[in-house]
Amino acid sequence: MYRSHTCGELREDHIGKEVTLSGWVQKIRDKGFMIWVDLRDRYGMTQLIFDEERTSKEMMKDAAGLGREFVIQVKGEVIERESKNPNLPTGNIEILVSEFKILNASLTPPFTIENTTDGGEELRMKYRYLDIRRNPVKESLMFRHKVGMHVRNYLSSKDFIEVETPYLIKSTPEGARDFVVPSRMNEGQFYALPQSPQTFKQLLMVGGMDKYFQIVKCFRDEDLRADRQPEFTQIDCEMAFVEQEDILNIFEGLTRHLLKEIKGVEIGDFPRMTYADAMKKYGNDKPDIRFGMEFAELDEVTKNKGFNVFDQQELVVGIAVPGAASYTRKEIDNLISWVKRPQIGSTGLVWAKYNEDGSLKSSVDKFYSEEDLKVWAEKTSAKPGDLILVMAGPADKTRTQLSALRMHLATELGLRNHEEFAPLWVVDFPLLEWDEDTKRFHAMHHPFTSPKPEDIALLATEPGKVRANAYDLVLNGNEIGGGSIRIHDKETQAMMFDYLGFTPEEAKAQFGFLMDAFQYGAPPHGGIAFGFDRLTAILGGQETIRDYIAFPKNNAGRDVMIDAPAALDEAQLKELHLQVKL
Ligand code: ASP
Repeated sequence: MYRSHTCGELREDHIGKEVTLSGWVQKIRDKGFMIWVDLRDRYGMTQLIFDEERTSKEMMKDAAGLGREFVIQVKGEVIERESKNPNLPTGNIEILVSEFKILNASLTPPFTIENTTDGGEELRMKYRYLDIRRNPVKESLMFRHKVGMHVRNYLSSKDFIEVETPYLIKSTPEGARDFVVPSRMNEGQFYALPQSPQTFKQLLMVGGMDKYFQIVKCFRDEDLRADRQPEFTQIDCEMAFVEQEDILNIFEGLTRHLLKEIKGVEIGDFPRMTYADAMKKYGNDKPDIRFGMEFAELDEVTKNKGFNVFDQQELVVGIAVPGAASYTRKEIDNLISWVKRPQIGSTGLVWAKYNEDGSLKSSVDKFYSEEDLKVWAEKTSAKPGDLILVMAGPADKTRTQLSALRMHLATELGLRNHEEFAPLWVVDFPLLEWDEDTKRFHAMHHPFTSPKPEDIALLATEPGKVRANAYDLVLNGNEIGGGSIRIHDKETQAMMFDYLGFTPEEAKAQFGFLMDAFQYGAPPHGGIAFGFDRLTAILGGQETIRDYIAFPKNNAGRDVMIDAPAALDEAQLKELHLQVKL
């Protein structure tokens, strides 16, 4: 038996007991006459003691030869610790070792395996198995497991069943590039890895499964902007005989359950906002509503006052930044440079200070009287002490820029509190989205999303105005879930592919199986998928999903530990009928 207890288990009640522990040597303190060793495993840490008076000379010598991260097994008596450590659950006891064995030696680890480490990101990723021994990483993985268990329990209690769907499939259009896998047995042909199990979960509904979920890997070959991974995990769900309201209710329930069980936070009905309102009020389809700073459109009150910059623009829009009237000239200049950076691309910012004494002062005093600025203050709901910031330009672009500034300022002002949770449903997304590059419409969610029946007539005249039965769940400014009520008849699906620019032949070749299935009694159905990594990170209070993934990839999509991707050897290429041209 390798162990009778774990390294996190022993307490004062165990004093006098003979125990066996196994684990890793975290730290050794050698005073010559006494040696203390911190022994660690997943469950905690226990102090071992070797003492000249009570330990044989030989064992003292062996103990002195231990190194960090050696794996050892010890036998000994649980004794009361002289200098207790209140910060450690096992801090009142220690083990007086009577026997020990090195199960495996270790090289000196390339970084310290403690809560805070001297190892940089790259090094820790290369030796991720060592990084995982550290408490913060270990705890994140355990936290992820806990979230997963709550998801499984909740959905099972609502009659959902988990069904696995294949990874070697054909393209699923979720808006990214596919990862492809060559087929050895089918010369010149390729599988695609699923960007999501979308078509399969719909086929499960045709198959009568009624309520499906799966915690499942998805693969998307996209440029790895901010905190994305080429393979990530979804909580993927689908239900038959449902309308949008049914889906929102169930998954609002799931989210509420997770917030309560995991964070102890109780939240009432989630607010809902249309996509159009979210864009108008926050310039963003995933607004963080933990703080205000709502957009106020100022065209009416700023135009035709002789200020050309505003007069010529499609949209003039502002926000009130709480308590920022005291910003110095330099602080404001920094904000102006911030919005002018290429990543934001704004031409500049106009500001107006609403001073504590009620007076108003702006960067455009030449054109606007204090009376005018009072109106700006009313529109932006600014209070004395606030700073009003105004941007102007093409409507969509300006909203996006102001949204970035709003988020930046909220972070700076400490308004994005990790322990506060503000969920929000965004509904009525547009069905189609114009793509300038290809000069055609794309499905904003995916091509299986149904249009709102009352908007179908607009498809022929103003396709961009058609709204979809599509919804996103937003939490603290992050899209944590998204889904839609699907098309479930062949004609509408064929019409949709037609609008998206597929010829009937292309549609048949790519999605014939789905349209065929729709001819055999497909029930009305809809679903949603949550980003499991992101949801876990938000609940865990961390910014990056990497912290919750055991073996994440770096920004270049590489696994630096196993050194993948890698070249194939000639024999393998030949077997796969592939030739590499570089
Ligand atoms: N397949 C969709 C996605 O991955 C989710 C859904 O529509 O259920 O975003």
